Amino acid sequence: MVSEDSLSRVNGTLVWYWAICKRQVWLMARQITPSHDDDNLRIGRTLHEEAYGRDRKEVRVENLALDLMRTPEGDVVVGEVKKSSRYAESARLQLTYYLYRLQKLGVTAKGRLHFPLERRTEEVVLDEAAAERMAEVEKEIAALVAKEDPVPAVWCKWCRKCAYRELCWA
Ligand code: SF4
Repeated sequence: MVSEDSLSRVNGTLVWYWAICKRQVWLMARQITPSHDDDNLRIGRTLHEEAYGRDRKEVRVENLALDLMRTPEGDVVVGEVKKSSRYAESARLQLTYYLYRLQKLGVTAKGRLHFPLERRTEEVVLDEAAAERMAEVEKEIAALVAKEDPVPAVWCKWCRKCAYRELCWA
C-alpha cells in the first residue's frame, strides 16, 4: 500500500525517468541532481518557442507544469517538446501521465508530442487501457521513491550518456 504522500510526489519528470532507469527515478526524487547542462537548457527553450510560438500557455496543475493549448474546435491539448525521438517511449509515457492526471481532475485532453528538429508531431491519447497502466505506473513510482535506499545501479544502454554516470560507475 503506497501512501498519499508518496503518490503526491509523482510528476512527469519521474514518469519520464521511470521508463529509462529506476535508479534515476530514486535519485531525482531525492533532489540528487546532476550538474545542469546550460546548452541543453538553452536549446530546450528555443525548441519550445519554435514549436508553439505564442499559442501555448504554461499552466500549473497540482505538482505538474503543463503546456496547454486550445484548438479552434475547443479541444484541450497538452504539448510536450522533445529534442529527439530517441526517448520517444519515455516521452509518450510522460505525456500519457499528464492526460491521466487531468482526467482525474475531470478534464479530457489530448496530447501532442513535438519533435521540432525532426519536423514532426505525434498524437497521444488516453484510452481505458492507458489510464489503467498509468495508475499502476504511478503506484510503482510512489513505492520506489518511498524506499530508504537507492535502487542498485544496473548497466543499461542509457548509462554511457547519463548525467549520473560518475555517481553510479566512478
Ligand atoms: S548511470 Fe545508468 S544506472 Fe546510473 S542512473 Fe544513469 S542510467 Fe541509471
